[in-house]
Amino acid sequence: MNPSHHVVFSADSIMNTAARPQVIMETGLGSYLTDRSGKTYLDFIQGWAVNCLGHCPPEIIMALESQATRLINPSPGFYNQPMIDLADAIVAASCFDHVFFCNSGAEANEGAIKLARKWGQLNRNGAFEIITMENAFHGRTLATMSASGKPQWESLFEPKVAGFVKVPFNNLEAVEQVISDRTVAIMLEPVQGEGGVVPASDAFLAGIRQLADRHGLLMIVDEVQTGIGRTGTLFGYQHADIEPDIMTLGKGLGGGVPLAALVSKRSASVFEHGDQGGTYNGNPLMTAVGNAVFQTVSHPEFLLNVRDVGDYLMTQLNRLSDRYRLKGVRGRGLLQALILDSERASEIVKSAFEKGLLINAPRPDVIRFMPSLRVTHSEIDQGISILESLL
Ligand code: PLP
Repeated sequence: MNPSHHVVFSADSIMNTAARPQVIMETGLGSYLTDRSGKTYLDFIQGWAVNCLGHCPPEIIMALESQATRLINPSPGFYNQPMIDLADAIVAASCFDHVFFCNSGAEANEGAIKLARKWGQLNRNGAFEIITMENAFHGRTLATMSASGKPQWESLFEPKVAGFVKVPFNNLEAVEQVISDRTVAIMLEPVQGEGGVVPASDAFLAGIRQLADRHGLLMIVDEVQTGIGRTGTLFGYQHADIEPDIMTLGKGLGGGVPLAALVSKRSASVFEHGDQGGTYNGNPLMTAVGNAVFQTVSHPEFLLNVRDVGDYLMTQLNRLSDRYRLKGVRGRGLLQALILDSERASEIVKSAFEKGLLINAPRPDVIRFMPSLRVTHSEIDQGISILESLL
């Protein structure tokens, strides 16, 4: 790996919403990103768990090239074939019946919130409250920020959207205690990603399903981060052998391009004409990419390999944890975290960047790994050895 040569440049015209290092990323291939100076990074962030097939995979390039010469956007007022094919594929591979395509995870979740409220108007005397989890992350629109349980957001952009009641994660009693006539749905992530890679226990997911059934509520799973093979099954809810009413997808669905989906059982799919829409929604350029990604990831052998490589990553991280007396490993499939013994995750992330390894710190003591689902054992060895040199 080349030494770091930071190039001086100006990015003053970019709104200052993130602390970015002074480099410009120029090319990507598989598990590697390369900046303008020629420095190469082993990428275990992959656009925040977005590039599930790695950087610039041939399937996506081919889908973009062939669709771009045929049709880019006929308007969301018309059907197009890639949109229908991808919806059919998602429905065939899941417990759901209907799909609405959109452009980001936040937009998919915003749609799920609207769908639940509409269902509450039709079926539960106008009930509108959604029970969500502490430390949940559902996006950055006003409603999805309001649904999220990120402590730092509590006083941001007040007043928030009303109608979200927060409870501790993995605590079924706490959920049951806040159910009332106003409640319409329970919404959660199968693994809280931004919250520090905390899996919902299978018993918690199954318990939420039972509570929802007993009280006549909807169960919404936010699979923006856990969907599309990330945890070793096509969807995260499948680990618990349950059927939610509504699911949202994003990130991996487009393999790097803006594509997300609101997916619903027929019984919850109550939108009428005009209730939901958007200029880019379901456009054939993005859904053609979605088809290419979905065909690859939904293959049983591909998912078997995610579980195999995920086990390998977990074994290696556990070895580091034992050796350096850290606090263990959390996660599922290729969404994992190493829990440190002190709040030094940001420091390690910065040093790893200098050494050419991209990892991220969702919490001060947590390092998260979300590599390409095609990451190899030897790439994991390479990443682990850089990380070990920093511990
Ligand atoms: N939901 C979950 C679980 C996420 O992890 C994220 C993004 O990190 C989002 C929603 C928001 O997705 P987007 O950034 O595409 O709006």
